[in-house]
Amino acid sequence: TDMLASRLSLLKPSPTLLLSARARELKAKGIDVLDFSGGEPDFDTPAPIKDAAIKALGEGFTKYTAVGGIPELKEAIREKFRRDQGLDFSPREIVASNGAKHTLFELFQVLVNPGDQVLLPSPAWVSYPDQVLLNQGEPVFIPCREEDGFRLEPEALSAVLTPRSKVLVLNSPNNPTGSILDRDRLEKIAEIVLKNDLLVISDEIYEKINYTSAPVPSIAALDPALRSRTVIVNGVSKTYAMTGWRIGYAAGPREIMEAVDTVQSQTASNPNSIAQKAAAYAIRSGEEYFSPMLVEYRKRRDWVVKAFNGIPGIRCAPPEGAFYVFPNVSGLLTRSYKGVPIHTVYELAEFFLDVARVAMVPGTPFGSPLHMRLSYAASQEALEEALKRLSEAVALLD
Ligand code: PLP
Repeated sequence: TDMLASRLSLLKPSPTLLLSARARELKAKGIDVLDFSGGEPDFDTPAPIKDAAIKALGEGFTKYTAVGGIPELKEAIREKFRRDQGLDFSPREIVASNGAKHTLFELFQVLVNPGDQVLLPSPAWVSYPDQVLLNQGEPVFIPCREEDGFRLEPEALSAVLTPRSKVLVLNSPNNPTGSILDRDRLEKIAEIVLKNDLLVISDEIYEKINYTSAPVPSIAALDPALRSRTVIVNGVSKTYAMTGWRIGYAAGPREIMEAVDTVQSQTASNPNSIAQKAAAYAIRSGEEYFSPMLVEYRKRRDWVVKAFNGIPGIRCAPPEGAFYVFPNVSGLLTRSYKGVPIHTVYELAEFFLDVARVAMVPGTPFGSPLHMRLSYAASQEALEEALKRLSEAVALLD
């Protein structure tokens, strides 16, 4: 209707949240649905992190704070970048926001002019294109092939460049594929970035959920020229099982980060004061709370990959990071259920929801119509039951 601003016509609700909503609806009707559509750890926030928040609350730390975060939080973030990536940021080069999703939106606000192209290696997290559109930019997908482990190939980046290309978004480890960009490829990508004067947003929110033996390399750490045109985005949601606390952050060149701070000052003032205290505590703790979770994620990953590969028509590669599997289900897209053909991954997702009572997200909104995403940040018990149901449902297909 003409009540709404025209920019709204470009926007759709997050498809992952949509599927969770349908699963919740069924659950409310008393149907026992196993929901793997979300992107959040099943673990509770570790108790000492909660205690830091309780302490802050008791001390009356309940007022507005500095826009981009309290000094204690910025110091914890600075230390994290020094420790993990050998990168030095001044406090003015860091902004904490209400979750990395908020951070990313602010970055697109300050970087994108109407018509600027934002390059998104695909499959990509579903919120990038819509956030770009809301800021009048043009999302441009760069296809990444399954044969390449869904990693961005430098040639594929070169192939999409135009004079309007402005920002490249990297997401390693990737949601939904779990792929990690290796140093070799990153170096070649960095060359293209420099040659074409691109800016980089490096979304490293899954940095710590890494099953390889080496730390996840960051393009910002390759050399100072990259450091000066890259903004790193990270947060506490995934690493410390703190999705509901809503603390994300970014670090990058001062000019960009001061602009982010200004936008935030006019739109959100500051992230939640109590959550900032808890996040500072969590980030300072390093690996302590998070290592046991990683051990669990790895076990579940290995189990789930094997179980999917045991279902005829499904192929599942082991992801290197994050907590999603992205099985190829193209072998099922020629089949039918009770005489009704299943053509698309949407129809397959509905079939799985209705018949197996298992919720997974179709790959299409992420950029692949042949895959589905399942989050294995769920109990082993739930995973075993789900894979059993999926396997039984697939056996019903003609
Ligand atoms: N970036 C990616 C790739 C994600 O998958 C998510 C969460 O799903 C986020 C950013 C945002 O995380 P948050 O806003 O909880 O910090």
